[in-house]
Amino acid sequence: MFTKILIANRGEIACRVIATARRMGIRTVAVYSDADRGARHVALADEAVHVGGSPARDSYLLADRIAAAAIATGAEAVHPGYGFLSENAGFAEACAAAGIVFIGPPPSAIRAMGSKSEAKKIMEKAGVPLVPGYHGDDQTDALLQAEADRIGYPVLIKVSAGGGGKGMRVVEESNRFRDQLAGARREAKAAFADDHVLIEKYLARPRHIEIQVFADTRGNCVHLFERDCSIQRRHQKVIEEAPAPGMDPARRRAMGDAAVAAARAIGYVGAGTVEFIADQDGTFYFMEMNTRLQVEHPVTEAITGQDLVEWQLRVAAGQELPRRQEELSISGHAVEVRLYAEDPDRGFLPSTGRLAHLKLPAPGPHVRIDTGVRAGDTVTPFYDPMIAKVIVHDADRASALRRMAGLMAATEVAGVTTNARLLAALCGHAAFAGGEVDTGFIERHRDSLFPAAAPVDRRELAAATLHRELSRADRALALARTGADPDSPWNAVSAAPLLLETREVVRWSWGGETHEPALLRRRDGTLAIDFGEGPVAVTANRAADGGLAISLGGHGFAGRAVEVPATDGGTDTLVFVDGIPGPRRLRLVDPLDVSSYQATAAGEGSVRAPLPGRIIDLKVKAGDRVSRGQPLLVLEAMKMEHTLAAPADGTVKSVRFVAGEQVVEGAELIEFEG
Ligand code: ADP
Repeated sequence: MFTKILIANRGEIACRVIATARRMGIRTVAVYSDADRGARHVALADEAVHVGGSPARDSYLLADRIAAAAIATGAEAVHPGYGFLSENAGFAEACAAAGIVFIGPPPSAIRAMGSKSEAKKIMEKAGVPLVPGYHGDDQTDALLQAEADRIGYPVLIKVSAGGGGKGMRVVEESNRFRDQLAGARREAKAAFADDHVLIEKYLARPRHIEIQVFADTRGNCVHLFERDCSIQRRHQKVIEEAPAPGMDPARRRAMGDAAVAAARAIGYVGAGTVEFIADQDGTFYFMEMNTRLQVEHPVTEAITGQDLVEWQLRVAAGQELPRRQEELSISGHAVEVRLYAEDPDRGFLPSTGRLAHLKLPAPGPHVRIDTGVRAGDTVTPFYDPMIAKVIVHDADRASALRRMAGLMAATEVAGVTTNARLLAALCGHAAFAGGEVDTGFIERHRDSLFPAAAPVDRRELAAATLHRELSRADRALALARTGADPDSPWNAVSAAPLLLETREVVRWSWGGETHEPALLRRRDGTLAIDFGEGPVAVTANRAADGGLAISLGGHGFAGRAVEVPATDGGTDTLVFVDGIPGPRRLRLVDPLDVSSYQATAAGEGSVRAPLPGRIIDLKVKAGDRVSRGQPLLVLEAMKMEHTLAAPADGTVKSVRFVAGEQVVEGAELIEFEG
């Protein structure tokens, strides 16, 4: 076995590989970029090497520099994780040339599956069923259009070199084809420097079911059953589970055999995943093979009791697979959710910022947490904005989903917007629990998954108000301790007896509403809140982790308030209350501060960059008349294209940037006249 390995990755997967290596007594070397100097994976590894600037192309994608880091540190093998260089045959070759083991398949297998088009040709030969489509070399517009017309709409344009749903376009009708083709090619070029596409029949309500395969260098190849990854948004996985709901043993065997045949057809070694798309009637077609460990591998680990990273290390070291096919079995049910820094209400726009507060579920016998961040870390625009993967393993699917819904409801993140509420709603959804599983689930159940915001709850207002009160007391206490005059009565904290009873109206605004609870500080040092119906006694105690134990009129609850910077430059208070889906974003309205009023006025008449990125297409110029919802420009940010549309009918007064320019978050891009 190796004595030292380098992990050519970052985030949760780097941390996860380090954990297994450590358990096996293998030393670890991390690599990191400028942005990741203080990252969790760097702190966990035995050694760390700085490899370059924050953008991945200046660090995690620099094959030569990473291979050099392995040589310099004396690592015998490199684990590529997923993404970045994990499916880069050139990198695998560079490692081999340097005498370092690449923990993955042979370069020839990566190449064979690296192109979705080439992979399909191989699978066609191996007799694995394919979705009707076109995956030829002729890439002229006219031919692609003719093929799409032949296949029949809707069709799906896929990028041959693609991954992560990037560049994928659904085309509903023939006259939209050329437009969508141009968009797919543009995104492909930016993400993969290769705009070769293929076309497939777009299946209605399909399921994504994939098979985990594993092969060693001694001719053994097994599968570790299936994962269902049908719950997706924008063709990206959101929830994965194993086993797949409704799978019967005969179909499991058929899919497993097809996957093993696919792996054998290309001389596969190591961990791989054969992805299938399945019709509602269970007919399955080969989609692609991923020649690496998948993000969702933990659900397979949970139900089989195997550590797939350990398997990878053993196979890479030349050992035999730890188990034969007949020694593998399924126990219970596992569900994984991907907790992302993104805003489901704004088209899943990635959200960046400092994690001012982070409370993930506690790991335990049923719960596993894979994360690359800690409270205080920053989610930057440079990488995938995943905060954590939460994995639940339980006796059956219903129990696993119930447990997960509870964990997501209790997850607290401040500083970035997350999909935690959506994940809780999904896991608690009756239709999903009932086995309705397909890639259109989120869209179809939009109304119940994205409920209108609930009215502000008094407990939320109490938590925010008491947090403010305790913070003021803390500050006064700190001042008194460090100040020039420690005995000054001005520093007296609120627990001390007051000469007068005070009543302060604290104004909070939320979504255009204002709420005005009054806080009463009584002469005996106790507090009360008046919501307009007379004072109610309150107490609040700060727990060690900053949370509040509150009693409001005799009813106890746990709450928390965290102050975070808002996009308009002000400060918002995020409130979490146990049992209420949160957080609630409140703004303290200071009657003496005009900035909180100006913020909304400034937003009118202009379109601002919702996140930092590059303008890749400008669709309007000064003087153009536009109508509400009309696309104005395309911004590329966090590796995705975002189309910004006109907020109202009007005339473009000025366009502040040209295509190709980089813009910062909040930059005014286009100015309007009504
Ligand atoms: P990527 O490699 O970019 O992730 P995939 O080929 O794996 O792309 O497809 C991603 C997702 O897109 C699938 O999980 C599925 O939801 C959807 N998809 C792919 N092919 C089809 C198809 N022919 N019909 C309907 N949906 C599809």
